Amino acid sequence: MVDPGGDIPRVLAELEQLGVTLEKIILTHGHMDHVGGTAALVQATGVPVEGPHREDAFWLHMLDQQAAMMGFEPQPTFVPGRWLEHGDTVSVGHAKLQVIHCPGHTPGHVVLFSEPDRLAWVGDVLFKGSVGRTDFPKGNQQHLVNSIIQRLWPLGDDVRFIPGHGDMSTFGDERLNNPFVADKNFG
Ligand SMILES: [Zn+2]
Ligand SMILES: [Zn+2]
Repeated sequence: MVDPGGDIPRVLAELEQLGVTLEKIILTHGHMDHVGGTAALVQATGVPVEGPHREDAFWLHMLDQQAAMMGFEPQPTFVPGRWLEHGDTVSVGHAKLQVIHCPGHTPGHVVLFSEPDRLAWVGDVLFKGSVGRTDFPKGNQQHLVNSIIQRLWPLGDDVRFIPGHGDMSTFGDERLNNPFVADKNFG
């Protein structure tokens, strides 16, 4: 599972419904809406946690404050069993996901890419028609744009992506239409 933000009873019910066994939890970045259910899901299933990049450790340390800021109950914090680095591989079943460090929304944000499936999990780096906010502590708009253009676009226009919020899209569509990172913005 990528980014269990919460609603763990629903997640567990869905796993049972699908008849699948959870193998691991992968985290793209340390924001509460992506990691808030991690401790509960680990407690329920015992699976390991991989990611995000160590640069997001401060966000995990701040889970309680994040919850308070957003008006949720305090969330137990945790330490991932493995921090991810640019160029790492994460295995899930027979799949091998490439780890791409994409700072900007948060400094330790990672994207997961399945080359054979032409599919990327991009968290809050890129959305259909938008990009992640950069007004949080250690956010950086220029880093975010560089991450998208230098590290995501080279994967290919045909790559579909699953964002942390909203609808799926493809890198090619965003290069044409995304007001923040379309090719035409950069001459
Ligand atoms: Zn976020
Ligand atoms: Zn988010």
